[in-house]
Amino acid sequence: MEIKKALTIGGSDPSGGAGIQADMRTFLELGIYPYTAITAVTAQNSDSVIAYEPVSEILLQQQIEAVLSDGYVSAIKTGMLASVGNIEIIADILNEHRMEHTLVDPVIKATAGSALLSEDGLGVLIQRLLPVTFMVTPNIAEAELLTGVTVLDKGSMFEAAQAIRDMGVAWVLLKGGHMQGEAAIDLLYDGVNEYYFESKKVNGYNVRGTGCMMASAISSYLIHGFGPVKSVSKAKEYVLGKIESAVALGRGSRQAVPSACMAKSSIGGSSIENRVD
Ligand code: PLP
Repeated sequence: MEIKKALTIGGSDPSGGAGIQADMRTFLELGIYPYTAITAVTAQNSDSVIAYEPVSEILLQQQIEAVLSDGYVSAIKTGMLASVGNIEIIADILNEHRMEHTLVDPVIKATAGSALLSEDGLGVLIQRLLPVTFMVTPNIAEAELLTGVTVLDKGSMFEAAQAIRDMGVAWVLLKGGHMQGEAAIDLLYDGVNEYYFESKKVNGYNVRGTGCMMASAISSYLIHGFGPVKSVSKAKEYVLGKIESAVALGRGSRQAVPSACMAKSSIGGSSIENRVD
């Protein structure tokens, strides 16, 4: 039996709403085995990011090489990269092991506002990482920081997507969920065609880790063999379901929780509370 594997490279979130933990949940739910390499350890919860420290470049390199030297990995997905050195290591590795479906979620800030990448890091991400990337998935704030274009409407969204595409990446998914208006509009662009995806906005509460889940879901569908357009539309559907069923585990934002944790009787065939064995 062939087990399809991805390598997700990003930060650890001890509360599991975002980062590597959200990636792992998504890949596993979508039938991909997730290898993981940690770029940084964060201390955070549903309220805020309290602190983080990047791991050393050599330790990141050793984690990635340990996995890549031990078997075939279909795709790499990156999230929080934390330091310039980490980005350079990943770019070097991607230059060496060309992968068909590298997906970069350019995590620059936490949803709660803390910076998760320095300004120098942004420059190196543009110069070194995007040219070896298949798809990049910025939200509006990230697209504005990458390009300097203020994204207010469909026209400026396209302008920003074009500027990012010119950085050397094959596909840009600009996620417009935070733009004014009733609907969430995302633009997928490959330098030739523009694909717009419209979906309803789910109002009333914040959900952490939606960017992580979206990128991991797209990566999963690409690995399963769907094309970029179909992978994005299927991933949007998956993440919308996760947003709608998100729960509050702590004081702050809601987060996705696997269905096995929510159904009382899902394990062992009877309510765990009532079991005597
Ligand atoms: N990765 C880590 C480790 C994070 O802490 C965060 C945000 O806090 C993210 C990624 C991005 O999260 P989101 O999917 O909410 O954009």
